[in-house]
Amino acid sequence: MSPRLDHYINGQTRPPASGVYLDSYEPLCGQVSGGVAAGNADDVAVAVAAASAAQADWRARRPIERGRIMLALAAKIRAQSAALSEIERRETGKPPWQAAAEIEVAAQYFEFYGGLVNVFQGEKIDLGSGYHSYTSREPYGVVGVITPWNAPLNQAGRAVAPALAAGNTVVLKPSEFTSGTSVAVARMAVEECGMPAGVLNVVLGAGAECGAALVSHPLVRKVAFTGSPRAGREIAHIAADRIIPLTLELGGKSPNIIFEDADLAQAIPGAVRAFIINAGQVCLAGTRLLVQRSIHDQVVAGLAKAVQAFKVGPGADAMVGALTTPAQYERVKQWFQIARDEGLNAVVGGEVVENPEWGQGWFMPPTVYAGVTNDMRIAREEVFGPVLVVIPFEDEADAVRIANDTEYGLAAGIWTQNLSRAHRIAASVEAGQIYVNEYGAGGVETPLGGFKSSGYGREKGIEALHHYTQLKCVTIKL
Ligand code: NAD
Repeated sequence: MSPRLDHYINGQTRPPASGVYLDSYEPLCGQVSGGVAAGNADDVAVAVAAASAAQADWRARRPIERGRIMLALAAKIRAQSAALSEIERRETGKPPWQAAAEIEVAAQYFEFYGGLVNVFQGEKIDLGSGYHSYTSREPYGVVGVITPWNAPLNQAGRAVAPALAAGNTVVLKPSEFTSGTSVAVARMAVEECGMPAGVLNVVLGAGAECGAALVSHPLVRKVAFTGSPRAGREIAHIAADRIIPLTLELGGKSPNIIFEDADLAQAIPGAVRAFIINAGQVCLAGTRLLVQRSIHDQVVAGLAKAVQAFKVGPGADAMVGALTTPAQYERVKQWFQIARDEGLNAVVGGEVVENPEWGQGWFMPPTVYAGVTNDMRIAREEVFGPVLVVIPFEDEADAVRIANDTEYGLAAGIWTQNLSRAHRIAASVEAGQIYVNEYGAGGVETPLGGFKSSGYGREKGIEALHHYTQLKCVTIKL
């Protein structure tokens, strides 16, 4: 068993006030691996007090000074990539190559915002010669960040880096299933990179107790949440009562649209990657594949073949790892039954299989259902597992109608060699991210966020700095 993981508050490791620890798991072998502090409102109060006390000094520093510490942290994360990746591989069940790629992205967030904050400035407003008027962007104070388990340090870095760069201090509550790298990086920041104690604190524990206490704390002035629409709604109620701003990055059921003029040699493996990566536990996953009827059968046959090329398992050579939580493993199994009840037979996958290489790990066969209509539950609800539904369409108008017939609006893919068509569809689909001819393209520089029930506010890019600051306008009569 791994040792128990404690909070990291004000530059110190701190056991939970309650003395209670939650089980943590190792998805690759389906076992309990240790314990994680079960934080409560008492622990949150200590962390928020530390963040609040550290804020005036952090905010008063020149952006270039804050940025220098963040660049040092980016370099340290890179230098420790092997150790951090191993923590995430064990906690999430991802293949090692993918864990390493996500640690690199986390480093890039600190690098990007550590530099960008130097050119993030207010504006002079021209009121004629009688006045001097200008705007400045000011931090909120203490920001609460709550992250899920599917890409732990990547998602933590995405919110923490712009919040800190802008002069806020942070209390981060990672998922209780994947807290290891958040604690490790907060410790690195304070103990090895010169970040003052209290600027970045990590409290651990379950959402309903520890997460809700963080959102409710009177000194937390802004919250960034990534996770399920269910929890997002509960948090939004608390934030509405407190009148504090919220960034919500929630789920998706994103359409990935293949037109008959697409390069299928690119589109078919691209469509498989779009739903299979991270065993489908990706909010942005392209899980509704809309295929023009004239090429439907050809694409379905190609998908069945392409899926077999993606190895699933615990090994370093696997493309697809395990599901991360025991509840998620059970939920995906239930989806196979729901699909059967809706009269669907899987083209590939569709049931749990015994595989000696998989042992007791929470591995799930990648699954494709064809003959799906957009009114079926499996086409409307987020599975958060490696499950793709294929839906035929007739023409552009039909594709747009089906693509937008969903409560979500996080992402959409378009596969076509017709540039005008790509622009027409990009303009018509209701989603925060549109990818043409490469699903998931982009980087830390490209803004991310949802339309409709996929959330509001934006992460990434320069856009995120607007969301972690509030605008002040000063006007002086000369
Ligand atoms: P979840 O909502 O159960 O948990 C996310 C985080 O919120 C965890 O830290 C959890 O402890 C905390 N939490 C849960 N209930 C809470 C509450 N009432 N108050 C405060 N905190 C609470 O989600 P999950 O199961 O960890 O993640 C899967 C979901 O996240 C999927 O729906 C997925 O689409 C979504 N997601 C979205 C994005 C995005 O960027 N849009 C990224 C990753 C995951």
